Amino acid sequence: MNLGRSFLIGRLFNIPVRLHWTIFLLIPFIAFQTAPSGYAYENIFWFTILVIGVFGSVLLHEYGHALTARFLGYSTRDIILSPIGGVARLEKFPKDSKHELWITIAGPLVNIALAIIFAFLLVILYGMGFLPASATVSEIDNPNEVLRIIMITNIALFLFNLIPAFPMDGGRILRASIALIIGREKSTKIAVTIGKIMAVLFVIGGIYVGSTTLPIIGIFIFFSAGNEMKQLGHEQRLNDTLVKSLSREEQVKLHIGDTILDAIARYNEGVQRNFLVYNSLGYVAGALPEYYIQQAISSGVGLDKKLGQYMSTAWTSVSGNLSALELFDIFKKQGVAIAHVMDDDGVIIGIIDRNILGNFINNEVDK
Ligand SMILES: [Zn+2]
Repeated sequence: MNLGRSFLIGRLFNIPVRLHWTIFLLIPFIAFQTAPSGYAYENIFWFTILVIGVFGSVLLHEYGHALTARFLGYSTRDIILSPIGGVARLEKFPKDSKHELWITIAGPLVNIALAIIFAFLLVILYGMGFLPASATVSEIDNPNEVLRIIMITNIALFLFNLIPAFPMDGGRILRASIALIIGREKSTKIAVTIGKIMAVLFVIGGIYVGSTTLPIIGIFIFFSAGNEMKQLGHEQRLNDTLVKSLSREEQVKLHIGDTILDAIARYNEGVQRNFLVYNSLGYVAGALPEYYIQQAISSGVGLDKKLGQYMSTAWTSVSGNLSALELFDIFKKQGVAIAHVMDDDGVIIGIIDRNILGNFINNEVDK
């Protein structure tokens, strides 16, 4: 998924926090909301504090996911905040449904905890009468209003995220709970179906009560549900495919005595993108990944250098009986671009590289 440009604003608990560029749309939004007050200084001030408080709540929600994930052994690549919410991107999604359940539920629990904390704070500061005060957001001009709206927002975030439909946390909680009983694949189908029914109810119910927001949320949920299904199908296909069915018997072999220019010529033939480099005894000495070649092409210097001095040492041998999904993880973890594929007796039956795997993932298996 291409998320577009986002900016690193800092790290908390060693997890990078990024702002999606659309977050700057909040500036005109604040201006629009505070216009009725004639841009009164204190109105703008408190409204801005409110926006920061709301996004702070969303951020803590994401940290609920990320830190629970860390506790269970999954690291988080980053957290991205956008005007429509946040996302904590895990390096690897939990296959264990119990883990998925805990990681997912932790986010909404943070919001309910925050709501309780803010409610206590309001009672301490303003007594029991804090709730009845009813100003519209454009009239916020004191900390009481700000705290009250942040508290209510956290209750809303808690409820909204528990809607049992993808991509809300509730959809994942539902899926993970069903998966504990009947397995992952079926549970996704059931959760997606329930999500779609929810979506339709949102649209119908929304129209019935004369809301515009509810039908929009409904349509959003409806289309997101399909995406989750696609993602899972994708994963399953990789899981069901053996590396030996993808491996290529014929390979273009490079030699440590070849120059970079030789390698570029072989690369340009277009048959193979990543290469193994052999020594004079016929053993693999290293690898020449595609990006090494592209780097050489773009720099254009030192092309007469021998591959023995330019190659990468990152290559590996894998069993042909691994799944494509396992291979994908190996490539990612070891930074490897090409591997020997072996049969059960350890005999080399071919090669597999990132390009072949990438083409398979993109549905265009070419052998
Ligand atoms: Zn969440």
